[in-house]
Amino acid sequence: MIGIIGAMIEEIEPILDRLTCVKTTRIGGNKYHEGSYGGKQVTVAYSRIGKVNAALTAATLIERFNAEKILFSGVAGALKSHLKIGDLIYAERLVQHDVDISAFGHPLGFIPESGDYFETSAQLNEIAASVALVRGVELGKGTIATGDQFIADGAKKEWIQKQFGADAVEMEGAAVACVCAAFHIPVFVLRAISDAADMDAGFNFDEFLKSSAKISADFVLDMVARL
Ligand code: SAH
Repeated sequence: MIGIIGAMIEEIEPILDRLTCVKTTRIGGNKYHEGSYGGKQVTVAYSRIGKVNAALTAATLIERFNAEKILFSGVAGALKSHLKIGDLIYAERLVQHDVDISAFGHPLGFIPESGDYFETSAQLNEIAASVALVRGVELGKGTIATGDQFIADGAKKEWIQKQFGADAVEMEGAAVACVCAAFHIPVFVLRAISDAADMDAGFNFDEFLKSSAKISADFVLDMVARL
């Protein structure tokens, strides 16, 4: 079974619209929709926003629904200027930008016995690259920084970009990747840009959430069909 996560209802609605749903279960305040797409068994859930909710959903998909791989679909703020609204980027690796136990000499983002950067599945990333080729769409790749903050500030944006070498910022990806690493489950994290994490981010996010979420969702569904 393939687990698919979005953070918000808007991020999974375009997936649910195309899913043949057979069963919906409520666990821990989230709904899990089991069904099929392109002959593949999938379970889709939106986690609610933030790292804790995302970790809860990823762990539930793995432990209760036996997810063998997890695909995340959603929107993000661009940290690099070449990334424009609607552009797709997948994470080669993810890091928690709000983890700081540097008082003990650890690098920012680092947690003992857990690490700092979480790698995504090379195999899933390759499938994404081939889907992009077939569709003739541009697919960016890079480092995604995750934290429990909506970034809407030029200075903060620059700090995250420089400190972690990050290309985009969001609020769930690294949590999902951390859970998947713990359970040795391949993970793929895709984001379509909704804003530039600057002073206009809140406004842009509201305007582009739905269109960018759909761009990401449609791409992930194309991947499912090829898994
Ligand atoms: N408007 C929502 C809150 C959205 S929070 C409400 O009021 O309920 C932003 C969501 O989109 C998060 O799930 C995060 O992963 C992603 N995101 C998009 N742009 C972001 C940014 N600039 N900083 C952090 N997360 C961002």
